[in-house]
This record gives sequence, C-alpha cells and structure tokens, in this order.
Amino acid sequence: MIDTALHQGRRRKMVKGLAAKDTYNERVIGAMSVVPRHAFVSAGLDSMAYEEKPLAIACGQTISQPSTVALQSHLLGDIRGKKVLEIGTGCGYQTAVLLQMGADVYTIERHKELCTVANGNLKRCGYGNAHLFLGDGHKGLPQFAPFDSIIVTCCANGIPQALTSQLAVGGRMALPVERGKGVQMMVLVTRISESEYRQEDIGLCSFVPMLEGVVK
Ligand code: SAH
Repeated sequence: MIDTALHQGRRRKMVKGLAAKDTYNERVIGAMSVVPRHAFVSAGLDSMAYEEKPLAIACGQTISQPSTVALQSHLLGDIRGKKVLEIGTGCGYQTAVLLQMGADVYTIERHKELCTVANGNLKRCGYGNAHLFLGDGHKGLPQFAPFDSIIVTCCANGIPQALTSQLAVGGRMALPVERGKGVQMMVLVTRISESEYRQEDIGLCSFVPMLEGVVK
C-alpha cells in the first residue's frame, strides 16, 4: 500500500473538515486520520478518495461519503474491545475504520466479488484481523451473537428482527431504514433490556438497498 505525501495531505484536509463539524467523537476522527481511504477505492478514483462524496466500487455498489462513515461510527459509541457486526462490507473501508477504532469486527457481504476485493484491501492495509463472511446480512451471524454494536451500510425496508435479536442488552445499532417514496432515515436502535428497544431518528441519508440472497 502506497501512502504518498499527497494522499496524507488530502486525508488531513478531509479529517479537518470532519473535525470542524464538532459532531464525531475523537476515536472516529483518530481512526479516519489513519485509514488510507484511497487504498479502498478503484485505482481510477484515487484522486477523489478524500472528497466528501460517495464513490463507485465494484458490483454497482458505492462507498459512503466520509461524513456518513463518521456519523455511523460515532453512533456506535465506544467500541474499543467490543464485538461489532457490519452488514455490507463493500470495499472494506468502513470495516477498517471500525477495526482502527479498536473493535473486533464481523462483516457480511452478499457479493462474492466484493468479499474478495475487501479481503485484499484490508490485508494490504494491515487489517487482516477482520472476520469476513459471504452471506445475506438480513440473517446476521447468530453463531457469533450477541454483538455490542451493529452497523448496516445498506438500506433495509424495515428493521430486520434477526439483527435486533443479536444485539446485546445495552448495545446500539445504526441503520438506514426506507420510509417510503425513496426517503431514507438513519435510525439508532438501543437495546434497553431483553425485551425493550429505544428507536431514534437521526437524519435523512442515502444508501444502496439491502437486498436478499447471495451473488456468487
Ligand atoms: N461499508 C461499505 C459500503 C458498501 S455499500 C464500504 O465501506 O465500502 C453497501 C454494501 O451492502 C454493498 O456492497 C452491497 O452489496 C451490500 N449489501 C446489500 N444488501 C446486503 C445484504 N442483504 N447482506 C449483505 N450485504 C448486503
């Protein structure tokens, strides 16, 4: 992985812009100042990697803009030493940010090709400790539950029940939810007790849809 002075300068500028919003905790800012975002996007998009824009990755999917990655990472709370489940590995950038924040990350992707891409990107950048799974994220990973936090990086039609049931008591889940007519809301779900959940609307957002099944 090559991290030139030019990349480092662009990354500093991106992080400065995020820090200026005074919204995200210092662990998010710290992690995003280290993870080489340019190493996760397609070679042709290298120069745009640190701009406040979503970018195309393989299989017609997109990597979220930096502020969206920061927001979701922030919503999960203090994840140092915690077990985190991510739905939608994509190119692995968000996975790397969570690992850099000190979490033990389990991540599911439905496109086999993206699993391979993410695996390569993460290993190249020194994040070989991610647990990657090819599968349908609607089901979560019951064999590794409960999770202290869950992050969904594709937009579900509702809140998948399998995922709320795999959240530890006191745990948080940040997910975009479709509210009809193409309106997507970032929702924060907190599990208060075995049977109670709190749900909070955070703000409008834009993600690729969460789809059923696996693409091999
Ligand atoms: N976190 C990613 C964002 C990728 S976009 C990154 O940093 O690059 C969202 C991803 O969710 C896409 O790769 C898409 O294929 C995946 N996805 C959509 N539905 C899914 C499902 N049911 N299970 C797992 N992954 C899914």
